[in-house]
Amino acid sequence: MEEIRRLVLTQETDEDAIVGLSLRPRQLKDFVGQADLVAGLQVAITAAKARGEPLEHTLFSGPPGLGKTSLAHIIASEMGARISITSGPAIERAGDFIGILTSLEQGDILFIDEIHRLSKTVEEFLYPAMENFKIDFVVDKGPYAKTINFNLKAFTLIGATTRSGLLTTPLRDRFGIFYHLEFYEEKELAIIVRSSAQKLNMQVDEDAASEIARRSRGTPRIANRLLRRVRDHAQVKTGKNHIDVAIVEQTMVALGIDGFGLDDLDRRLLEIIKTHYSGGPVGIEALAATLNEEPDTIVDVVEPFLLKAGFLRRTGRGREITDAARKVL
Ligand code: ADP
Repeated sequence: MEEIRRLVLTQETDEDAIVGLSLRPRQLKDFVGQADLVAGLQVAITAAKARGEPLEHTLFSGPPGLGKTSLAHIIASEMGARISITSGPAIERAGDFIGILTSLEQGDILFIDEIHRLSKTVEEFLYPAMENFKIDFVVDKGPYAKTINFNLKAFTLIGATTRSGLLTTPLRDRFGIFYHLEFYEEKELAIIVRSSAQKLNMQVDEDAASEIARRSRGTPRIANRLLRRVRDHAQVKTGKNHIDVAIVEQTMVALGIDGFGLDDLDRRLLEIIKTHYSGGPVGIEALAATLNEEPDTIVDVVEPFLLKAGFLRRTGRGREITDAARKVL
């Protein structure tokens, strides 16, 4: 039970991280979907390169697994820039952060994942660093206090967040480029499944790719993960590297994923609202406590797709299930 849930959640597992490296699109032209974002970025990158300048600071928001990290790598490769990667919670002290910033060379990219989780102190160092490539660091206190100024090289900050709403306005305002990533269409996910299958040396039937896409909660990371699970099943059950729709269906039954892509946790969430809270509305804290999950996991990982798919509604008084959800349950 636990194992299946871990597999189907959108959060990145070690396996995702390792296999993801080989499946990650390398250039903007290989990035499937998000047409407006891709077109806009292409213009910004071409213009920055023509001026010989770094790209403006860029912010990507959207649910996990939609391609924010991949885009940061693609930008680095298109700009011919080096990329350093860190995350909001990983930068604990301002001193660590100054070390990171001062080590950046002209044109380098600094990617900060979960940027909404930066501490207040660290965030305040970022403002002048982003704005004029300078940082002021005050050492000592009272009469002995002195300010040390650091001049930084012109770099590009790329931030990723699952919750742009939690970003402070001063931080958000300092990004020149800002895109929100949307869930993917089934036909886009099917393209991703076929291309990943090719990279993994597997044959996948057209309708099998579509079936995997349909169950992927609009999320490329899940599409790739389901493909790998289907591959396991195909190898064990048929001894072949060929995936047809029957093997996809068998795998989905084994994983507890239904025709809408809903997994055990999704269904439990909807079921609890229906039975414990008479369909809602229920506050997120109470819901999380009943489900024995972190509120952040529900808000960042579980809920976005349920909202998008029309199974859940967010109201001023909390979450409630829709008629569509009642039918499914
Ligand atoms: P995020 O940073 O938003 O959590 P990632 O960039 O880590 O998401 O993407 C997760 C995986 O999904 C990547 O390893 C990549 O293989 C795949 N992926 C994401 N977006 C796309 C896309 N548009 N085209 C092809 N593959 C994608």
